[in-house]
Amino acid sequence: MPNLQPSTFKPSNPQIFKLGLIGYPLSHSKSPELHKGFLSKCGLKGEYTLYPIPPDDKDALKALIDRVRDGEIDGLNVTIPHKQNVISLLDELSDTAQTIGAVNTIVLRDGKLIGENTDAPGFWKDVQNLKPDRFSPLETGGMLTQKPVRSALILGSGGAARAVVYALLNAGWQVTLATREADILQAETLIKDFTSQNSKFATQLTNTELKATTLSSLTSTLSLIVNTTPVGMKSLIQGSPYPQNLPFPPNAVLYDLIYNPPKTQLMQDAEKAGLKVRGGIGMLKAQAELSFEIWTGCKL
Ligand code: NAP
Repeated sequence: MPNLQPSTFKPSNPQIFKLGLIGYPLSHSKSPELHKGFLSKCGLKGEYTLYPIPPDDKDALKALIDRVRDGEIDGLNVTIPHKQNVISLLDELSDTAQTIGAVNTIVLRDGKLIGENTDAPGFWKDVQNLKPDRFSPLETGGMLTQKPVRSALILGSGGAARAVVYALLNAGWQVTLATREADILQAETLIKDFTSQNSKFATQLTNTELKATTLSSLTSTLSLIVNTTPVGMKSLIQGSPYPQNLPFPPNAVLYDLIYNPPKTQLMQDAEKAGLKVRGGIGMLKAQAELSFEIWTGCKL
């Protein structure tokens, strides 16, 4: 089905919005703070509740989703480890959620439980702050014009990579997935899933190994590098997924999906090499805003 439009919200609506997040663990989630801020900005009454559901507790997951079907809960966000698990409990998916194969937003529309994915448009919206399109001179019949260079390198091929890749492919970019050798099957599965949904993606999407020897011939063509691996956060805080002996392409920009810490080792290294960089907090906010608009109709 087409992607979800905001609900038809009326400011005089006295509704108290009951919203929340399914995931596990959830103790460090920033979502309640974000959504409480949105409710207040929109002058709406409501609550945003954390629903920690362990990975294997299928009964609890179903019981919670049934509360959306019954109209008791107005909207749910979904995070790790349930972004795929919820799909079989829903009636329909948006085109975006269908292709990505993951849901981060649930709402009841016309009696049907719909799954949407706002990570992809959230990433796309925030990455624009880096102005990732690069233009290089192109000689055409003696005339010098500008040729757009829209080629991205994605580090990792997990859940978040799928949202990033979806956004870039739909905007017409060339995308290369770079993964550890152990993850090559995961990257190939992503490519197979995407191209089976839309055959034109086959000419835009490739994969390679995340190491200097395989990437060195590619870097000069890049205008965007995106880190979708967890390398740079928590126990991996001092690490960088980018190969140490691979120079950064000087004209590219770098987006790191990690938002804690705000500046990862990779962002520091890229910045030292002269690249413009941005961390993932803007994407986190943008995906949350888009979910909130779907539930309440209030545009932030
Ligand atoms: P995920 O599904 O586990 O995917 C992570 C990917 O990175 C997998 O391909 C994983 O391979 C790979 N990887 C892990 N360790 C690696 C290493 N040392 N070197 C190279 N690749 C490695 O996780 P996710 O949901 O995509 O999340 C990834 C990151 O994005 C997290 O840091 C998360 O916080 C962030 N994120 C941010 C936002 C935002 O709004 N800013 C939204 C979503 C996610 P294996 O599967 O083999 O481990």
